[in-house]
Amino acid sequence: MFPLDGNGGYRVDRYYLDFDWQAPRTPFEATTTIRATSTQALSRFNLDFAGNTLHTVTVNGSKAGASREGDELTVTPKSPLHAGRSFTVKVTYTADPAQTRHRDDAIEDYGWIPTPDGTVVYPQPNGARLIFPANDHPSLRAPITFRITTPKDRTAVANGKLVSRTSAPGDRVRWTYDSEQPLSTQLVQLAVGDFRLVDSEGPGGLPLRDVVPSALVEPTAEYRGLTPGHLKWLEEKLGPYPFNRYGILVGDTDLGVALETQTLSLVPKADLLGTKVDAERNMVHELAHQWFGDSVALESWSDLWVSEGHARFYERLYSEAHGGDSFEAAMRAAYAAHDQWRKDFGAPAEPTEPNLFKRMRYDGSALVLYALRERVGEETFQRIERAWVSGFKGSTAGTQDFIDLASKVAGEDLEGFLRPWLYGSKTPPMPGHPDWVVNPVT
Ligand SMILES: [Zn+2]
Repeated sequence: MFPLDGNGGYRVDRYYLDFDWQAPRTPFEATTTIRATSTQALSRFNLDFAGNTLHTVTVNGSKAGASREGDELTVTPKSPLHAGRSFTVKVTYTADPAQTRHRDDAIEDYGWIPTPDGTVVYPQPNGARLIFPANDHPSLRAPITFRITTPKDRTAVANGKLVSRTSAPGDRVRWTYDSEQPLSTQLVQLAVGDFRLVDSEGPGGLPLRDVVPSALVEPTAEYRGLTPGHLKWLEEKLGPYPFNRYGILVGDTDLGVALETQTLSLVPKADLLGTKVDAERNMVHELAHQWFGDSVALESWSDLWVSEGHARFYERLYSEAHGGDSFEAAMRAAYAAHDQWRKDFGAPAEPTEPNLFKRMRYDGSALVLYALRERVGEETFQRIERAWVSGFKGSTAGTQDFIDLASKVAGEDLEGFLRPWLYGSKTPPMPGHPDWVVNPVT
């Protein structure tokens, strides 16, 4: 899947994004500076980049060769880089905050998504390259410093912490954010709009900061106020929330998709203006991703079932306990459809590029976790979950890591149990539910 995503020969140590944002849907001048370390001798190297107009590329201050083919930007430094050296790449370009791509699955549109008074971004799965030149692969994480200038009547936000807000030439404002923890490019958030920053506190004094279009502060207040309860519920299941802060960015768009951008989940306004049950499902889903997919990053896109399966699992578990549908009934329905989903969308851990974000990765993958819980029992399952989020906190892990860890914690080899669930063409029997039936494939 996505064989050209990510690049070898170097490691990104930090991105610095300097954006001179102007107005909705209006291209603006941007500079991305990348501090990196070569892991081998390099006469040239690649970045993933799909921004619309490239101006110049320098390496260590000297003009470098730059050529583009598809989403690959090949950089040829004036003199080759030795192995193990830190170096600085500076790319200047024009960013187009209306540049969007489309997928025919749960992602729908991605890249820059315009709003009436600004922009939000949906980088998942590989749209970060529309925003900045990057090592755009879910396993490759680096911290990011965001420096965004805006007109005075706009607010810019990004992952992590607001470091400063100062005046800039031309009656503008400069916003500086630090992601604090490294993040995968698919989890970047960077939004500009007529926002109010609404601060509150979660369990243990965790700083919460919602970012809300001014006109939506009151209408969304009730559901946004549920976040501390969601945190408390998930922390009881999983242990401490993995980052320094959290918040909800209310998306003023018609794109009905939520996204787990790190420390600042993007939730479309429709989700916060509908029923409480649906709002909480989406909010708990994105919050659960902060543990699964954000703090513990994906090793590859084939591991997406781990993050989406867990997010859906906890979303449904929470919902059942708070007025929503029966978890078991939903899992029974997913079980019935599982052979069909295997045929249409691939087994949970065997997606292909076009079916990556289809139903198998959501309820179909929550079902694998449900089967595991039925097999090992609730107490052991909870120990597996806690071992996963604490053992791989701030790092990357894949499907084999999950199988190995589950086996270790359960004290039995679960390879023979989990592999058919994750890779087989036929759905295995559901432990504890001999009466559950898989519908024939059509
Ligand atoms: Zn999700």
